[in-house]
Amino acid sequence: MRYESTQQAMEALKKLQQTQKAYDHVLGVLYLDATTAAPGDTWEGRGKTMEIMSQITYDLLADPQNGELLSYLEEHARELDPQTKREAEVLGKNYRQLQRIPAEEYVAYSVLLNDAQNVWKKAKKEDDFPSFAPYLEKIVDYNRKFAGYYNPNVPPYDALLNEYEEGMCMETLDRFFRELRESLVPLIARVKAAEQIDDSFLHKHYPVEVQRKFSDYLMEVMGMDRSHCGIAETEHPYTTNFNNKDVRITTHYYEDNLVSSMFSVIHEGGHALYELGADDRYNYTALSGGVSMGIHESQSRFYENIIGRSPAFAHAIFPKVKEFFPEQLEGVEEEDFYRAINKAEPSLIRIEADELTYTLHIMVRYEIEKQLIAGTLAVCHVPREWKRLYREYLGVEVPNDTLGCLQDSHWSGGSFGYFPSYALGSAYGAQMLVKMQEDLGDIWADVARGDLSKVTGWLREHIHRHASFYKPGELFRSVCGEFDPKFYTDYLTEKYTRLYRL
Ligand code: ZN
Repeated sequence: MRYESTQQAMEALKKLQQTQKAYDHVLGVLYLDATTAAPGDTWEGRGKTMEIMSQITYDLLADPQNGELLSYLEEHARELDPQTKREAEVLGKNYRQLQRIPAEEYVAYSVLLNDAQNVWKKAKKEDDFPSFAPYLEKIVDYNRKFAGYYNPNVPPYDALLNEYEEGMCMETLDRFFRELRESLVPLIARVKAAEQIDDSFLHKHYPVEVQRKFSDYLMEVMGMDRSHCGIAETEHPYTTNFNNKDVRITTHYYEDNLVSSMFSVIHEGGHALYELGADDRYNYTALSGGVSMGIHESQSRFYENIIGRSPAFAHAIFPKVKEFFPEQLEGVEEEDFYRAINKAEPSLIRIEADELTYTLHIMVRYEIEKQLIAGTLAVCHVPREWKRLYREYLGVEVPNDTLGCLQDSHWSGGSFGYFPSYALGSAYGAQMLVKMQEDLGDIWADVARGDLSKVTGWLREHIHRHASFYKPGELFRSVCGEFDPKFYTDYLTEKYTRLYRL
């Protein structure tokens, strides 16, 4: 269709985005239902609905009419307000992306990923990497090809990174990880040699029904409005958002572990506060919600580690923790609790790793996927390379592939370039803390009283309210200046030197 005025094109743009958001909402609710409340044998009909809905969502954006709309808006960019201009830019990028991948390749790839998920699950269970290897090879080939469609002018891995963290590249990440390696590998070796912290009391029996009440308490301390944010239970915790007035988090309770769910709630709570803090003006547009994985993780990890594992926060919540679990914590002092929740120990499994060693798990994956995409590492050598890097960075021996390169679902799900955002998020957070303290002065007295309003207020003002209006790098720079990993390595060195009395 031809547009008679910019006004008319803007209306069409608005309508397109609202429809997209409505479809996303439906798919999101289906997924939430599937992972929380749906009975075990109900997947068939839901699977069918999700397949059709996904196709409709794809067709909605891929419609060639959108190409006309987006070029019209591009031609009239000078008449657009900044928000509409950015909406058109984001949609234009997504639209062109879809156009570049031939439909038959897109379908074949979806089928491959579906099969690969099942093969990977079985291979992980049976410690059988060779059965998964041919699938991984094909997934890597597809990703190298798609990278060329995304952006043929940069190395393939850079093009993939850009999908998760717009503007990110290997040059920045190589420097980032080199600095982490140089300061963290020796620090972890010193922690390993020091006297280990006793956290056995965190692994007593903690009944689920009391843990549920504890979660409610934690959400209250975080200042989360429960009329806009729900909590449910799933195998793996996650956050999903439908708009800035309806966000859901999930957790998983283990009866023999107090802190697993506790820090899941605080972590997902950080993601939720980001979504809840977005300005209303971005609702039902392509700019709604957090801007990137890296910035999202900066928020979740800020609450989880920088706040949640601080002496001040431990001080604030400890009396209440004791009230919930008086028998389990008998004779335990606040200092014991603080040290126990920060115990660091090189281990094999990424999702169970502590704050100090976590980023080294990411570094292993970064090194490997970078080589896979560059074509300098053959898939059959992944297990060997995995073991070598775990030995070098974490000083641990990987006994098998189940506890090694088969542990994560990312590669079987086709996600290459995703892992680095976890590490970036942690480092962004440490730099934000320094800036926050420059602006607000001491924040810890408030935190020690259980008052996070100033902290959250600062994050809302500088990060949350902007949703996806700015590109991630742009947003970060406007708040903190140039990204510098030294803030993060300094933060960890200072914290763990003190904690382990090194
Ligand atoms: Zn997260």
